[in-house]
Amino acid sequence: MTDPITEIPAVVDRLRAAFRDGRTKPSAWRREQLVALRTMLREQESAFLDALHADLRKNAAEARRTELDFVCNEVDHTLAHLESWIAPEDAPLPDKLLPGRGSVVREPLGLVLVIGPWNYPLQLVLAPLVGALAAGNGVVLKPSELAPETAAAIARFVPRYLDPDGVAVVEGAIPETTALLEQRFDHIFYTGNGVVGRIVMTAAAKHLTPVTLELGGKSPVIVDSDVDLAVVAERIVNGKFLNAGQTCVAPDYVLAVGDTAAKLEPLLAEALHAKFGDDPADSPAYGRIINHRHFDRLSGLLAGGRVVTGGQTDRDAKYIAPTVLADVQPDAPVMAEEIFGPILPVIAVPDLDAAIAFVTARDKPLALYAFTESDQSKRRILDETSSGAVGFGLPVVHLTAPDLPFGGVGESGMGRYHGKYSIDTFSHLKAVLDKPL
Ligand code: NAD
Repeated sequence: MTDPITEIPAVVDRLRAAFRDGRTKPSAWRREQLVALRTMLREQESAFLDALHADLRKNAAEARRTELDFVCNEVDHTLAHLESWIAPEDAPLPDKLLPGRGSVVREPLGLVLVIGPWNYPLQLVLAPLVGALAAGNGVVLKPSELAPETAAAIARFVPRYLDPDGVAVVEGAIPETTALLEQRFDHIFYTGNGVVGRIVMTAAAKHLTPVTLELGGKSPVIVDSDVDLAVVAERIVNGKFLNAGQTCVAPDYVLAVGDTAAKLEPLLAEALHAKFGDDPADSPAYGRIINHRHFDRLSGLLAGGRVVTGGQTDRDAKYIAPTVLADVQPDAPVMAEEIFGPILPVIAVPDLDAAIAFVTARDKPLALYAFTESDQSKRRILDETSSGAVGFGLPVVHLTAPDLPFGGVGESGMGRYHGKYSIDTFSHLKAVLDKPL
C-alpha cells in the first residue's frame, strides 16, 4: 500500500491542474456536482447512518436532521439561487467616473482545503464543500480521524459520485493534516478548536492563504425572570443534550437572573426525564462521548457543583448521563473551558447587568442565547455583548436558517458561511471598471 502522505502533492497538483484548465468554473459543472452530492447522500443514506451511529451512537432521526438532511437543504437552497448569486453585480460609479460601468465579479479562488471535526463529521465537511463547489473551486476534504467510520464513508463515496479532478478526500490525522498544510491552497476552511486553529493559520500565513476558522467557546444562556420556565427548560435541554452536548453552538452554561435558578433547576430535571426517560443510558435518543480522552476530561468536570440530576458515568460505554450542576462557582474548572459534553452548569446572577458583565468578561462566544419577554433586555443584550450569533427564545437552530451567516468572532473564529455567505467566502470579489474610450 502506498503512503497517503507521499501522495498528497500529486493529489493537489492534479486538482490544481484541473482548476487551471477551467474544469470547475462553468455553472453547469457546479450544478452537476451539487446534484451528485445530494444523490450520494440519498443513495448511501444507510451507510452514512451506520457510520454516524458507530462513531457517536447518533440515532437515525437525529443524524438525518443534523447531518444528511442539513447538507441536502444547503444543496437545494444553493441550487435554487446559484445563478443569481454568482452573476456579476452592478455597482454604481461616482459622477467623476461617468460615463462608465462598475461591477463586482465573483471569481473562484482556486483550490480549497476543508478540515473537519468529529462532532458533526459529515455536515461539517460537506456543508463547506457545497459552498466551495458552488463558487467554482476544486476542493480537498480532510475529515476528522476521531470519527473514523464517517471519515471512511466519505472517502469511499465522494470519489464515486463527484468529479475526482474537482474533489479529493485525504484521510488521516495530524501527520496527514500537517503534510496537507505544507501545500499551497487558495483558501483553508477549518472547523475545530482554537489551538489547532492557530496551527492552521500559521501554516496558511506562509503561503498568504486566507482562512475561515469555525471554532467553539462557551455559549451562555441568559434566563430572565419574566419567562415561562417550563418552556425554557425544555428548549435548553433540547439544544444542550443534542449529540450528548458535543455541539459547537450548544448552550454551555446558564446564567439565571434573580430567583430563577431555584425554579429552573427542577424543571431542567423534568425536561430531561421527559426526553430521555428513567435511564438515559437506555434511551436510543441519547448519544455517547466520542472517546476516552474526552470522557475522562468531562468526568473530571462533574465535581464542579451540586448535581441536580445526572452525574452517572460508565467509562467502558463512554456514557455520561445528562447532568445539571447547580451552585457552580465562576472559577470552577467546568467554567474554565468549553464543556463540549452533557454537563450544564447553572449560575445564579442578581440581574441582567450582572449577566452581561459575566459574558463580556470572557471570550466572545460562538452563540449567545437569551430567554426574555423584554424588548429592552433584548436590545441591551444585542448592544452590549459580542458573539458569533444571538438566539432569543430558542438555542442552536439559528444555524439551520440558510440566509443567516454562520461563524464566530474573536476566540470563536473568523469568517462565515452558509447560503450566499459561502459563495462570498469561497470567491474573490473582483472590482471591474468599464469606461468607454
Ligand atoms: P478534531 O480533534 O476532530 O480536530 C479537527 C481537525 O483538526 C481534524 O481534522 C484533525 O485531524 C485536525 N487536527 C487536529 N490536530 C491537528 C494538528 N496538530 N495539526 C493539524 N491538524 C490537526 O476536532 P476538535 O477540535 O476536537 O473539535 C471540537 C472543537 O471544534 C470544539 O471547540 C467545538 O466547539 C469546535 N467546533 C466548532 C464548530 C463551528 O462550526 N464553529 C463546529 C464543530 C466544532
